[in-house]
Amino acid sequence: MALKDEVARFLKSNGHIQRIHFTLLRYKVSPTVYQKELAEAIATEAIEVRTQGSGTAAAAATYNPERKSLELHPSFNLLNLWHQAVLVHEATHACLDIQMIGAHPGHENEAVAYLAEAIFLGSAGVAPLPADPIRTVSHRIAKSVLSGNPWVTDRDAAQLAWEVAKNPHYARKFVYSSTGLRKPA
Ligand SMILES: [Zn+2]
Repeated sequence: MALKDEVARFLKSNGHIQRIHFTLLRYKVSPTVYQKELAEAIATEAIEVRTQGSGTAAAAATYNPERKSLELHPSFNLLNLWHQAVLVHEATHACLDIQMIGAHPGHENEAVAYLAEAIFLGSAGVAPLPADPIRTVSHRIAKSVLSGNPWVTDRDAAQLAWEVAKNPHYARKFVYSSTGLRKPA
């Protein structure tokens, strides 16, 4: 099976993705965005799934909004739960890109992706890895979402975005743009 079809099948059939349903500030995330809109965009190559060359970034997966591509590390393994969690995080960036919300704060976008990742791992009964301040907060909020509170409070959203902003990796990522699917050639 082609890699893109494996990724699309994972998004459609994974039971933990079924539980990723929340609203954080203006951002709405629901299972259907992963299962229908994103899985279809991947199947039709409106979002391209590609394997990175060796020697590239250490992350198991990254989403590139300019290229509209979900890029997987050569070592990426769809059977590995931690790799699945990274894929869910990156797929959430893709889900927000599809929604065409235009320019918006990068720290909020990352907060949404970290919360989706935490809900996925929380649903799987797994603690955050690695333990860091962003994930301490995201997993606390995820517990609340998983216990039936899909509306993230503004206070929790602000705290999570603030933890993202304090991380040097995200310090300068002030604005992300969300521009929809790749235009047909
Ligand atoms: Zn991210």
